[in-house]
Amino acid sequence: MTKAKPEFEGLNGPVTLNEEQQKFWMGLLLRRAEANGREGEVPVSAVVLDRRGRCVGFGGNTREREQDPLGHAELVAMRQASRLRGDWRFNDCTLLVTLEPCPMCAGALVQARMGHLIYAARDPKRGAMGSTINLAEHCSAHHVMQVTGGVLEEQASAMLATWFRQRRRRPDGSVEARSRTS
Ligand SMILES: [Zn+2]
Repeated sequence: MTKAKPEFEGLNGPVTLNEEQQKFWMGLLLRRAEANGREGEVPVSAVVLDRRGRCVGFGGNTREREQDPLGHAELVAMRQASRLRGDWRFNDCTLLVTLEPCPMCAGALVQARMGHLIYAARDPKRGAMGSTINLAEHCSAHHVMQVTGGVLEEQASAMLATWFRQRRRRPDGSVEARSRTS
């Protein structure tokens, strides 16, 4: 009797996404982020995939809408996923996000023991996955997280740049100019 072939390799780790699959998810997130941007939020969105590649959490920035300082896409997506799964540990999960996480979100990703982080645009001003500091490799990080940056980077950077340019043209641009990018 032949043993059934396992459906997934490394069942306890995060799902393996090839380049095409990474781009597929990121393209979807960029479209969601753009829609979020039209509603006045900084256009960033994130998704959490479980070890089988199923979406278990989604989030866009909600800081303006809910006046919530924690309303960053990554945290919104992780909160939804932890509620759905009944688990705060994300060792077997992947989080994809359109912008390099800020220090708050990077810290949360490490605390949540995220298995794999995939992001699109780098954030030279506030990015905490290498641009300003690398919290994934910081001495405070007790967890090893796989990090992939630069998936659809040009597209994501261009979308963010356009959004900020348009915001700055508004009469109340002074407020928006102080907005954080994630
Ligand atoms: Zn953040």
